[in-house]
Amino acid sequence: MNSRHAFWHTTALNDMTPEQWESLCDGCGLCCLHKLEDEDSGEVYYTDVACRLLDTSTGANSCRCTQYRERATEVENCLVLTPDNLTSYLPWLPASCAYQRLAQGEPLPDWHPLLTGDPASVHSAGISARGRCISEREVSEEDFEEHIVWWVSGFGE
Ligand code: SF4
Ligand code: SF4
Repeated sequence: MNSRHAFWHTTALNDMTPEQWESLCDGCGLCCLHKLEDEDSGEVYYTDVACRLLDTSTGANSCRCTQYRERATEVENCLVLTPDNLTSYLPWLPASCAYQRLAQGEPLPDWHPLLTGDPASVHSAGISARGRCISEREVSEEDFEEHIVWWVSGFGE
């Protein structure tokens, strides 16, 4: 697909419509994984423990939020990205995330659903959390440290 004239090339993140902004999300589910921050160094570590509202199945809705519209009120630390808060959330987002990439002046990756036309391409490319995360319903918070992972791009990979 020739994407030269696609909206993400021609429109700044701040100027996108809500629909354009939403469509940038590739559905990887990575930002819905719990992260730990080293208080001394400020370093962020991803775990494979997912928010209780993330669909952790490997089915068609894998890695989707089960209460997307209510997410901000249902989950206190949900990263609800907007053009206004993106800069402050960038240190917590994987390098593969479209918002991160565009903010850094990088193109969308070949596997992005906007380029492939297939919402599942993020899974077949091995980017998403599908099949490798566990719900926080099944893990005690004091054990999160044992669930640190290194396969999230930009955080060890
Ligand atoms: S990391 Fe970025 S692309 Fe992936 S689900 Fe979160 S907002 Fe969407
Ligand atoms: S509430 Fe937020 S963190 Fe939890 S699954 Fe939904 S979008 Fe992800």
